[in-house]
Amino acid sequence: MKIAQRPRVIIRDCRTYDVQKIRQIIREGLDELGLEPSGRTLIKPNCVASGDMFSNAYTRPEFLEGVILGLKDRDRGKVSEMAVGERCGITIPTRLAFEGAGYYPVFERTGIKHYHFEEVPQVEIRYTHAKRLRDYVFTPEPVAKADFFVNCPKFKSHPWTTITFSMKNYIGIQDDRHRLIDHDHRLDEKLADLQYIIQPQFIAIDAITAGEGRMLTPIPFPLGLVIMGNNQVAFDSVCASIIGLDPLTIPHVKLAHERGFGPTDPAAIDVSGDVTLDEAKARAKGFKVGLIRVEKYFEGSHITAYAGPPPETELTDYCWGGCPGALEEAIEILRLYDKECDEKLPRMHIVFGAYDGPIDAKPGEKVIFIGDCAKFSGRANNELISVESIYKHRSTKDPYHAKHDDIFAKMVSVTAKLTASRNESHFRLGGCPVSVAEQVLTLVTLGKLKNPYLAPDQIVEFNKAYFGWRGAQLANRLRGQKYQVHGPSARGEAAPEMPEPASPPAAE
Ligand code: SF4
Repeated sequence: MKIAQRPRVIIRDCRTYDVQKIRQIIREGLDELGLEPSGRTLIKPNCVASGDMFSNAYTRPEFLEGVILGLKDRDRGKVSEMAVGERCGITIPTRLAFEGAGYYPVFERTGIKHYHFEEVPQVEIRYTHAKRLRDYVFTPEPVAKADFFVNCPKFKSHPWTTITFSMKNYIGIQDDRHRLIDHDHRLDEKLADLQYIIQPQFIAIDAITAGEGRMLTPIPFPLGLVIMGNNQVAFDSVCASIIGLDPLTIPHVKLAHERGFGPTDPAAIDVSGDVTLDEAKARAKGFKVGLIRVEKYFEGSHITAYAGPPPETELTDYCWGGCPGALEEAIEILRLYDKECDEKLPRMHIVFGAYDGPIDAKPGEKVIFIGDCAKFSGRANNELISVESIYKHRSTKDPYHAKHDDIFAKMVSVTAKLTASRNESHFRLGGCPVSVAEQVLTLVTLGKLKNPYLAPDQIVEFNKAYFGWRGAQLANRLRGQKYQVHGPSARGEAAPEMPEPASPPAAE
């Protein structure tokens, strides 16, 4: 694995989603960086969610097409396969996300392959670096085998990790089973670990219309930029500085930097392009990031949220990567699908972590403990409540045995749980993390809200995509392709030489 010796970031002006203009910018960027695609060239967009409801959440199809065409323009006959691959937000079929994003016509026009990462064999990658969360993880085979990896994210805020630029886009290089492991208060470490799977040769971010405030339902922010680079840490650092953030305050960027993946210091990064860094900063003035604690987020609503620390309190007093942020995303999705969502929801109290303050629940108001680590002992609803933590240490979770939770199975289990506890003043929703989908379903049931998974205008497409996905998985299983073990790399190379912490980056 090679890390670019002198990281470069190119900032270009681009006010519209004009495919040919984007193509030209990408071609010129590749030229300036001295890059030509080769071998198995894989492009990873951010397509976490798509369609009209999530119109600012994903890398736009015009941008993706411009990137593909720009790469093709720079192909000197060395490309053996060019493909796009992604795992969108969990429980939703990537087929549905690609359909909603308008990607399939792009694949057809450009004649390139595509992979739904949850439908392909998963390859084991061994970690050997210091301070890793675990010794092995899984990634889709096309990622493990890519020779020229192009990261093509969307410029957005994120409620769990402050920003989602290049490094955070890696959450989509794992399928559902493996993505949720360590997606908790140590999410930033997970993201830093994922950097050892692969490093992109080229990064191009869709910052034409950026997304502020949130991740799934961001507010559009016209930034008018295409930003390109050859080093992920340097790239994210420059993007962070554009919105006025010190990159060293963003934990996953800081961690990757400390592990030698690239510099955050502006003096170590060459910045060029037809927009200066200062001009880019001026355009981004007022851009809102989304790091808001859950108690604050729900102020003034029918939900009162309480958050105590997650386990491993020495690391953090708040679970930024898990259940609380998922509740924030869940309510925003429901607000889109049901305009009366906030009025319909009954007064309720939602508790995360080991909370030891007062819970101001009146008789009849439910108290919901979300997550395995939720813990409380005290009065609520005029009764004494004692809830113990059932959190299991991450070492008990083996990626080999990680299970996929089907959305229809989730609907059944959440409904059963709520039915069983309908006469109870409090109940726990277990899991670590409890996903956005489960929290959506819980609020849907409690508030009798419109269920986004059963939205009449999407149910046919959803079912088509869902059964296509499950059919592909079944075919894989019949071929015995659930998992493949390829050791540290499936590219047929020796184990990647990753930098030791604090060592200088390896030369390209
Ligand atoms: S149960 Fe939820 S809040 Fe607790 S550590 Fe896990 S992800 Fe975080």
